[in-house]
Amino acid sequence: MRMCLCGCVPRMSRRGLIAGALAATAVPAAAAAPADPKLIDDLVVANRILYDQGVVDGFGHISARHDKDPNRYLLSRSMAPALVTAGDIMEFDLDSNPTDSSGRTPYLERFIHGEIYKVRPDVMAIVHSHSPAVLPFADTHTPLKPMNHIAGFLGSGPPVFEIRGTAGDASDMLVRSNNLGRALAKTMGQSQILLMRGHGSVAAAQSVRHVVFRAIYTEVNARTELQAMALGKPVFLNEKEAAAAMKTNDGLVDRPWALWKQRIAAK
Ligand code: MN
Repeated sequence: MRMCLCGCVPRMSRRGLIAGALAATAVPAAAAAPADPKLIDDLVVANRILYDQGVVDGFGHISARHDKDPNRYLLSRSMAPALVTAGDIMEFDLDSNPTDSSGRTPYLERFIHGEIYKVRPDVMAIVHSHSPAVLPFADTHTPLKPMNHIAGFLGSGPPVFEIRGTAGDASDMLVRSNNLGRALAKTMGQSQILLMRGHGSVAAAQSVRHVVFRAIYTEVNARTELQAMALGKPVFLNEKEAAAAMKTNDGLVDRPWALWKQRIAAK
């Protein structure tokens, strides 16, 4: 039975409902309805935009929760994001097992995505990157905070995940298991952004377009904050200003998306 994320059931006869429920139990997991091609297209475009905007390079990835099944997500096979096409998008359950790998190799750090989707029903898309201006804030005790209204989603400053707390002091720094992903998601809590000490960051949002916006402006904000610190002590948005600005910007993400999409199409 198809159910939307808010828990409502599409209009259907009682008989249809029962038949649907029976079918849902009988059909094996791998036979779920395919994702909306528009969602796949946004995900492919997002991979290329994030490269064009300097958020990802040969590394980093973006996922989307499956639009037909909230217990699945979509993520490219292990490859450079700028080269991703629709045929590279794989489907995973929330334990990050591929539902049909077809010989494709998944990203080692896919557990970041699965474990956040498990505990954050509001999150529909996730970016993990090593974007360079953000790293100084992950590796020091200097908080990353909103420098202007566009970065209101940073709130009072993202938490920092310290992998040593779970993996000990001799790990390769990668979130390569459900256990590590779970610890990361716990540190992230209800934040939109998480910093990872010695590694990078994570952005979460209600759609692919929103998460691309947040990942890009996290990097921009980090550059601006570093510049401001060279001049003096920055005055950040306070929590109320940040929340109000985030609400406004959440309604405007299609504008920069159109611009970023046009840039990659022209190349
Ligand atoms: Mn990484």
